[in-house]
Amino acid sequence: MSQAKSYAAQSATTPLAPFSFERRALREDDINIDILYCGVCHSDIHVAESDWGPSNYPIVPGHEIVGRVTEIGSKVTKYKAGDLVGVGCMVDSCQHCSHCSSDLEQYCDNGFVGTYGFKDLIDGTLTYGGYSDHIVVREKFVLSIPEALDVRKAAPLLCAGITTYSPLRHHGVKAGDKVGILGMGGLGHMGVKFAKALGAEVTIFTRSESKIAEAKKQGADHVIVSTDDAQMQAVAMSFDYLLDTIPVQHDLNPYLNCLKVDGTHILVGLIEPIEPTVHSVNLVLKRRVLTGSLIGGIAETQEVLDFCAEHNIECDAEMINIQDINEAYQRMKKGDVKYRFIIDMKSLKNG
Ligand code: NDP
Ligand code: ZN
Repeated sequence: MSQAKSYAAQSATTPLAPFSFERRALREDDINIDILYCGVCHSDIHVAESDWGPSNYPIVPGHEIVGRVTEIGSKVTKYKAGDLVGVGCMVDSCQHCSHCSSDLEQYCDNGFVGTYGFKDLIDGTLTYGGYSDHIVVREKFVLSIPEALDVRKAAPLLCAGITTYSPLRHHGVKAGDKVGILGMGGLGHMGVKFAKALGAEVTIFTRSESKIAEAKKQGADHVIVSTDDAQMQAVAMSFDYLLDTIPVQHDLNPYLNCLKVDGTHILVGLIEPIEPTVHSVNLVLKRRVLTGSLIGGIAETQEVLDFCAEHNIECDAEMINIQDINEAYQRMKKGDVKYRFIIDMKSLKNG
């Protein structure tokens, strides 16, 4: 066992604060990682604040983890001390169901083990995430960080990156397709980069006029201010795909209306009931598809890291100290981040 320092939420209403706990002793296929950087995902806020139902406290959030291997279990073959590695949203799964067998661990029939707030499959202890100084993870769920990536900005690829890359690949987005990205936050800004890299014509839908120039800088071909009905009407029946990263309940109907016949609206941001309800006319009359997508499997997460190294894609990040985490959450709730906070874990040493 090893003593870990971290920041944790003790309840849905308490701010994150310093917390010490024990990481398990290394099993034969475990790796110990000293955490260098950890991205801040909106899911961290949802879980810390029990937005998706009561969380298992204490919650040590963080599932965009980059660090260095310091120790390996006796049967580890893929990594050695000193390697630069990453951990994303999952740290285990059953490994024998049909989905685990086809590199879709996120859809494990027996439920994957999330990086924080889940029960370990072997000893039942609570998993604690990356807002901590080190983590012990099964080799199978550890990713290799390519040399070509800027280590300070790689962490968000492990969730924001894979969550936007996976559905675009799954649906076969290709050159010439018209893709709309809804919400320009951590996921949304990565979605623009991937859709552009796949050759699509990309439009950002944002509530914030102030993000228009930024969206173009990110590579978006067009920007729609979603609160302006005239702009929304002007793009009715225009899109092949909409990738929806909006983290709260919102009216899907005006967006569905922007899809062509056979167009597909992919939810990744909303993990709650759809309110207001979807009028089936927006689906039936144009044979449109409403679907969702959850992160990506381990092999595909490695693929997105390699894809980013090859295509020179990186996230736009603002580095913070762990002591600033509660303020960062408040800013994210207001949509005030360009476009991912990354915690420099050295700051944990300061208390
Ligand atoms: P961010 O907070 O970084 O970005 C969300 C963006 O959505 C904002 O920047 C804003 O963009 C837009 N937005 C926020 N509030 C509203 C609102 N009330 N109405 C319309 N638009 C709004 O969040 P992330 O990108 O980190 O995460 C997005 C969502 O995706 C979260 O709910 C998260 O839990 C979920 N998620 C899902 C995963 C999956 O596997 N399916 C994996 C990871 C995250 P703008 O200012 O441009 O309008
Ligand atoms: Zn996330």
